[in-house]
Amino acid sequence: MSPARTTTCPFCGLLCDDLEVDPADAKRAPRNACARGRDAYESLAAVDGPPQVAGRAVGLDAALDAAAALLRPLRRPLIGGLDVDIAGMRAILALARHLGAVVDHVSAAKQRNLRALQEFGAITTTFSEVRNRADLLLLVGDGWHRRFPRFIERIVAVDSDLFGPPSRRRIVTLNPIGRDTKAALPQDALHLALDVVPEQLPVLIGMLTAMVDDRPVDPRRSGAVAPALLERCVAWMREARYGVVVWTAADLEGSHAELTVQAITRCIRVLNGATRFAAMPLAGTDGDLTANAVQTWQSGVGLPACYGDGRVVADPERFASPAVLARGEADALIWVSSLGQAAIPAFDAGPTIVFGRADRVFDRSPDVFVPVATPGVDAAGHLVRGDKVVTLRLPAVRASDRPSVATALRGLLDRLGPPC
Ligand code: SF4
Repeated sequence: MSPARTTTCPFCGLLCDDLEVDPADAKRAPRNACARGRDAYESLAAVDGPPQVAGRAVGLDAALDAAAALLRPLRRPLIGGLDVDIAGMRAILALARHLGAVVDHVSAAKQRNLRALQEFGAITTTFSEVRNRADLLLLVGDGWHRRFPRFIERIVAVDSDLFGPPSRRRIVTLNPIGRDTKAALPQDALHLALDVVPEQLPVLIGMLTAMVDDRPVDPRRSGAVAPALLERCVAWMREARYGVVVWTAADLEGSHAELTVQAITRCIRVLNGATRFAAMPLAGTDGDLTANAVQTWQSGVGLPACYGDGRVVADPERFASPAVLARGEADALIWVSSLGQAAIPAFDAGPTIVFGRADRVFDRSPDVFVPVATPGVDAAGHLVRGDKVVTLRLPAVRASDRPSVATALRGLLDRLGPPC
């Protein structure tokens, strides 16, 4: 029996690179994948549908011909989704320049980190640093567990080169009340649980910052958290030699999300006056870091952006896809999505053209649907990992006829002819 081939999972920003493909059956989910990864691999292996025009099966050429015919007379399409690999994002931007389109990634959460980091700056760290150096982790919210299922297994519950077994690490969880995450932590971890109302997170982090800084706080403002627990947490923060605050922007719901990120970055700055602390905003799922990286490499500005009138303008409010759709400014919706299954916004002001994951199911058929390869499953691709420091190559795990996003969009561009 030939040895298992290792591969890298594309289904969250951790990009776990220890998955083993069964050489006898590449349609089975690779070993070591978590439940989320397994579901996605198995779902993609179970479908084999052709492209469609108005719900009818057609060949790839006919689908691209139809998409080109619909787009040729239009002036301002919106290209959404963008959960693709690097080559796919390059092709999306080439299409955006050609069409004068607005481009926006499906995840709005990225802006929460981006704005706070633009305003205040932040000291961030990497998965390797956390694995090897962090003796204290503050886990804010429960996204590190729900959205990054193997974060603890791969990054925290491992021996550190510097200080030994994971039982030497201290972990503070700032959990939303009612969502106990203790079972997800290493069994022998030194654990302190501060259960909080999500809206109160910025206040609580502000209190911790003030206490570390020896400034007075009003203990009545700590909500459900007993003041003694806060004091214990502050003692742990002061004793840490390398502390890390971990959060997931998508997990910080509501209008308090940005405030929470600001409070965390302030807290880390204060802590660095006495010891070493860093931020780990977990991201990278659905290619959010990949899309933004390619956009900034190529244009110098972030997402969302408009490529109309031969130039590129970025504006997180004006060109956010919900705002563009609400103002009726888009005359076509092109949805390009090879990694995730986020809902496609309702759109009636023009044609909807979808380059989507092969297992996508529609309530209402789009005008054109081209099933595309998922990078790391049906085709090789490159994605930026969740700590933003490396771009990994994801090999294909099985042979497939599905075109990559880059191949499909190049075919569409060839058919569109020169820009008007
Ligand atoms: S944790 Fe993320 S990258 Fe790792 S196997 Fe699960 S879905 Fe894939």
